[in-house]
Amino acid sequence: MSFTRELRVIPRIAWIVAWLGWAGFAATLWFAAIPDDTGPGGMVNWPLAGRLAFALLLPLFLVGIIAVWGYICGDAKRRGMRPVMWTLLAIFVPYAIGIILYFILRDPLPTECPACHTLVLARFPFCPHCGANVRASCPQCGRTLEPGWVNCGYCGTRLPAHQRP
Ligand SMILES: [Zn+2]
Ligand SMILES: [Zn+2]
Repeated sequence: MSFTRELRVIPRIAWIVAWLGWAGFAATLWFAAIPDDTGPGGMVNWPLAGRLAFALLLPLFLVGIIAVWGYICGDAKRRGMRPVMWTLLAIFVPYAIGIILYFILRDPLPTECPACHTLVLARFPFCPHCGANVRASCPQCGRTLEPGWVNCGYCGTRLPAHQRP
C-alpha cells in the first residue's frame, strides 16, 4: 500500500476545502494579524522571509487536518463502513479521539473475488456478485471464520481440520 495510492482515497472536495481554508488563513495572518502585531519585537518588525514563512506555513496544519478527515471519509466508504458517521466523529470528538478510534476499529480492506474480480467486503465469506467462496466460512452458520479458529466463534461448531482457516 503506497502512500500516494492512499492519498488518492481523499475526495477532491476535501482538497478544495483544505486549500481554500489555507488561503483564507494565510491572508488573515498576512493582512491582519501580522500588521496588527506592532510594538517591540512585534511580527511587523520581522524580516520579510520570516513574515512570509509564518503566514504561509502555519496554515498548513489546517490542510493536514482536513486531509485526515477526507481520508477517513474515503477510506470508510471503500471498507464498507459508514463514512458520514466516522467523518463527523473525527471532526467533533475532541483530542483527535474520533480519529484514533477510527484507525483502531476500521474493517479490513475488501478483497477481490478470484472468480469475477468484484471487491468483496471483509465480512462476507461469499462474493455477492457471482457467489464464489472468497473466505473460509462456517459449515453450520455460514459466517466468515477468522484465522486460527478451531471452533466457530459465532455458533460454536467444531470445525473439521480441512475447513479451518
Ligand atoms: Zn465474484
Ligand atoms: Zn458457525
